[in-house]
Amino acid sequence: MAASSAQAPKGHGMTDLAVTPVHPFIKGPMGLWIDGRSVEAQAEKVFDTLDPASGLVLGQLAQGETADVDRAVRAARVAFEGTWSRWTPYDRQTLLMRVHELVDQRFEEMATLETLDLGAPITRTLGLKSTVLQIIAYYAGQTTNVAGETLPNSLPGAVMTMTLKAPLGVVGAVLAWNNPLIGEWWTVCGVIASGCTAVLKPGEVASLSVLYMVELLRDAGLPDGVVNVVTGFGPTAGAALAAHPDVDRIMFTGSAATGRRIVAASASNMKRVQVELGGKSPDVVFADADLDRAVPSAAMSVFSNSGQLCVAGSRLLVQRSIHDEVVDRLSTFASGLRVGNGMDPEVDLGPVVSQQQLDRVMGYVNGAVPQGATVAAGGRRLLGDLARGFFVEPTVVSAVTSDMTIAREEVFGPVIAVLPFDDEDEALRLANDTEYGLAGGVWTTKLSTAMRMVHGIRAGTVWVNNYGLMDPAVGMSGAKLSGYGTKGSPAHIDAFLYEKCVYIDLE
Ligand code: NAD
Repeated sequence: MAASSAQAPKGHGMTDLAVTPVHPFIKGPMGLWIDGRSVEAQAEKVFDTLDPASGLVLGQLAQGETADVDRAVRAARVAFEGTWSRWTPYDRQTLLMRVHELVDQRFEEMATLETLDLGAPITRTLGLKSTVLQIIAYYAGQTTNVAGETLPNSLPGAVMTMTLKAPLGVVGAVLAWNNPLIGEWWTVCGVIASGCTAVLKPGEVASLSVLYMVELLRDAGLPDGVVNVVTGFGPTAGAALAAHPDVDRIMFTGSAATGRRIVAASASNMKRVQVELGGKSPDVVFADADLDRAVPSAAMSVFSNSGQLCVAGSRLLVQRSIHDEVVDRLSTFASGLRVGNGMDPEVDLGPVVSQQQLDRVMGYVNGAVPQGATVAAGGRRLLGDLARGFFVEPTVVSAVTSDMTIAREEVFGPVIAVLPFDDEDEALRLANDTEYGLAGGVWTTKLSTAMRMVHGIRAGTVWVNNYGLMDPAVGMSGAKLSGYGTKGSPAHIDAFLYEKCVYIDLE
């Protein structure tokens, strides 16, 4: 799709209403989802959600606030203490198997909705199907895999001692907008597999796939009240959920700044907390790497989803002897990518999600040059045919040093910062020269180098000779300012459970 660059137009179309519904799921204002039905917000407020490719209003969503969060938490508590608590692990497992079947049948509809709402290319959202199905299947298996221990004791008499694991109760989940199609399934599958109940607060700029998901869960036979959704804004709906005294565990995906507030709010009733935050992940390319594999992978680890990926390898560390070649190859790769409306199957990159995100990304790019960096490719907002949407060229910024803002802060856009290094020690020092610790990548043909980097990089997930492989049985994690708590792996289910120590006097 053709695209041209120039200055942003004034009065960007933020308030036009779409004339015809663009997806059968979007009909009129979309309600909150409480106790198995769609309901208006108590204050009857709504807000617009935009199509980032056109800037037009895609639909309207109920604007939930404190009273709505109260209602949703009450529904989740009643469900937790009601019939849901008598569902056996096998019952929950077969429910997840039905969910798997429905997702398999209806994924195209979900992917289309996500592309309209988030802007991500339809090839990308459709391509997430196998990951979503694998997540659901993995958690279906985990329902019957929860075990305590029988423990020896030194007590007098005949006393049997063991531990049991029990569901924590009501989970509050404040979600990010950047990848809801995956994030929502990580969350609800853990909730269902463990026997908890939940209230979800989606990211306000991309809530539609979460609302679609709860209708699908109802169709699969999930009892009313087990999973509820309150759409709305962070400082109101999100904050009310994070502080709610009847929420037992809070799961948060989003920025470190909000993460701090979530952790502080959890103290009121000692909620269990999982915070999955941002990143500034290093992707390290050594001179002996296979560049035919490394360059496209490094590029797409940032350009995919227009850079709105928590694990994006946004700091590309390149050994000096191949630095210029890598920058050239990256720039050629970036210039060859097609940017446009995500509904076009020929498109590689869609828009970023909002005007705010666009301004933020352009601010980082424009701010890098006065600090001494060079824009080697891209660097502009796309206008022409794409002027009404929020499109940014895939961008390569070189001559970056570790102290520059573009090397320190999360851009969350299609922007790669390239930093040179001389040897392994410097590569490791630069890789760890960040307050974040979400992920990292290493490209080398030397196993010894790879393993030293794997051990040395302080991050929750490290990839060698790939970037972004993910299996729910292995999971992903975080370190430092990127937060704590694992997604996937048996450890994830454990986080929805608490342990009871049981003493039985047998005499
Ligand atoms: P954000 O922190 O602005 O918002 C995240 C969520 O928190 C939204 O639902 C928002 O409404 C809510 N929120 C905002 N203020 C709140 C408050 N005061 N109290 C309670 N809730 C509040 O982040 P964002 O811009 O929506 O998301 C992008 C960030 O998420 C990036 O930093 C990205 O790296 C991170 N992210 C991390 C992961 C991971 O797994 N580590 C995954 C996806 C996104």
